[in-house]
Amino acid sequence: MRIKADTEVCIGAGMCVFTAGDVFDQDEDEGTVVVLLPEPPPDRHAAVRRAVQVCPSGALSISENA
Ligand code: SF4
Repeated sequence: MRIKADTEVCIGAGMCVFTAGDVFDQDEDEGTVVVLLPEPPPDRHAAVRRAVQVCPSGALSISENA
């Protein structure tokens, strides 16, 4: 699994950090998403999928082939 985050689209709502705080962080100045683990380990995949679902701006996407 590989995570893609579009910081142009991100509105800094922080839902991804709330859902998977070990995978996502927020930029201190902009508030936009920072991906800490672009290729998260398998035990975090479910949390990452939840984060993608709850993101209100659609800034997050995942590809499964990594
Ligand atoms: S949940 Fe979406 S909009 Fe909110 S900080 Fe994360 S990527 Fe950005």
